[in-house]
Amino acid sequence: METNVILFVGAILLAGGCIGLLIVRLTSPFFQGVGWLGASFACGALAAVVFADRGYGFFLLLADALILLAFVFLHVCFLELSGRESVVPRLGIALLIAQVLSYFFYLHAHELRQLSVVTIGLLVAVQAGESALLLKKTNQKGMDAPVWFNIALLLGFAVFNLVRSAIVLVVGTPTDPQLPNPLEVSAAVVFLGAGIGLGFGVFWMEGHQIRLKLEQLASIDPLTGIYNRRSFIALCEQELLRTSRSGEVFSLIMFDLDHFKAINDRHGHRFGDSVLCEVVDKLRNSVRNIDIVGRWGGEEFVALLPKADTEAALIVARRLQYHVDSISMVSPRAHGINGENRVTVTLSIGIATYFGHDPSITIHDLLHQCDSAMYQAKAEGRDRIVSVNPQLALIQTSSHGSGSDADGAQHATGESLLGTVGEKPIFTAGGAQI
Ligand code: GH3
Ligand code: MG
Ligand code: MG
Repeated sequence: METNVILFVGAILLAGGCIGLLIVRLTSPFFQGVGWLGASFACGALAAVVFADRGYGFFLLLADALILLAFVFLHVCFLELSGRESVVPRLGIALLIAQVLSYFFYLHAHELRQLSVVTIGLLVAVQAGESALLLKKTNQKGMDAPVWFNIALLLGFAVFNLVRSAIVLVVGTPTDPQLPNPLEVSAAVVFLGAGIGLGFGVFWMEGHQIRLKLEQLASIDPLTGIYNRRSFIALCEQELLRTSRSGEVFSLIMFDLDHFKAINDRHGHRFGDSVLCEVVDKLRNSVRNIDIVGRWGGEEFVALLPKADTEAALIVARRLQYHVDSISMVSPRAHGINGENRVTVTLSIGIATYFGHDPSITIHDLLHQCDSAMYQAKAEGRDRIVSVNPQLALIQTSSHGSGSDADGAQHATGESLLGTVGEKPIFTAGGAQI
C-alpha cells in the first residue's frame, strides 16, 4: 500500500512534469518533439500506477489503453522530428477505441487480453520500425550520432515487440497478472529502459537540430536562402588559408543590380524582393557545384569560385549575365500599354582573382578589389563586367546597353572589340589582350 502511494505520488509528479513539456511544445517554435514525448511519458507513468494498484478488470483495460496512448504519442513525437506524416497513429487510436468498446460489451475476457497484448505489441513494432525508417529518410544527407542512436534503439524495440507478441501468441498471458511473470517483468523492464533511452535520444536529437537551425539562421539570408555576408567572408577566409598553402588560384565575383531602386519605386518592394530571388536563382544556375554564393547586402551579391582563374571567372560571369538577360518578369502593377509592365534586369559585375602564395593579401583586400571593379563597371556605364586582373582588364557589354546604358553613358575610351561569346561582344580596356 505504502509502495503504491509512493508510486502514485511519483507518477503524478512525472505526469505533471510531462504535461509541462507539452505546454512548452504548444508555446515554443522549437522543441517540437519533446512535448509529445512528455505526453507519452505522462501516459506511461499513469499506466504504471494504475497497473500496480489493480492489475485486473477495468484497471487492466485502463493500463493497456494508457500504454497504447503512450506509444501513439511517442510515434507522433518521431513523426514531428522527421517532418513526416503517417496513418499508423490513427490505427493506434482505432485499436484503443476497439479495446474500450470490447470492455463495455463485456468482451474483455481473459482470452481477449492475449489478443490485446499481441495487437499492441505488433502495433508498437510497426510504430518503432516506421519511426526508424522515417528518421533515416529525413536524414539521408548526413546521419549524426543522435539519429543513429534513435534508429538503433527504435529497431531494437521493434524486434523486441515482435518477439514478445509471438511468445504471447504461443504461450498466452498469465491468468493472474499480479503474479510476477517473467514475460511481463521483462516487458516492463524493456519498456522502461526503451522509454528512458528514447527520451534521452529525443532530447539529444532535438537539441542537435535546434543548434543546427540556429547556426543556419545566423548564416543564411532569409529572403534568398544563400549565405549572408558574415558567413560568406568566413568561407572566403578558409579558402584563402587553404590556397595560400597549396598555391591554387581562386576568384571572387561581386555584382550589383542596375537601377534597382527604380524597380522598387515603380513596382513595389515586394515585387523587388521577387526580382532579387529570381536573380539569385539565375546565380545558382550559373555557378559550378563547388562555388559558394552569398548576399553581400541589399541588391549586391557575391560568389567565391575555388580553383577559378580570371578567365574561368569570366565564363561564370558571362553565363550569369546571359541568364539574367533572360529575366522578364510581369509586374503586378500595370504601367501603360503593350507589355510595359514587363521588368528586365541588368548587372554590373566585378571580378578579382587570387593567384596563390601571397601572404600579404587579406580577404578584405580581395573583396575591396572586387568591389572597386564592380564600381568601375557602374561608372563606365553599367551592364558590364570589369576584372581587376592587371594583365586582363576587361570590359564587357550586354546587348541591353548596346554601348550605352539608360543614363546614356558611353563605353570607356580606348576599348577594342576582342570577340564574341554567343551573340554578345567582349571588349578589352586599353587594348589589353587575353
Ligand atoms: P545603381 O545602378 O547605381 O546600383 O542604382 P540602384 O538604384 O540599383 O542603387 P541604389 O543604391 O540607389 O538603390 C538600391 C535599392 O535597393 C534601394 C533599396 O531600397 C533596395 N533594396 C535593398 N535591399 C532590398 C531588399 O531586400 N528588397 C527590396 N525589394 N529592395 C531592396
Ligand atoms: Mg544597384
Ligand atoms: Mg547597391
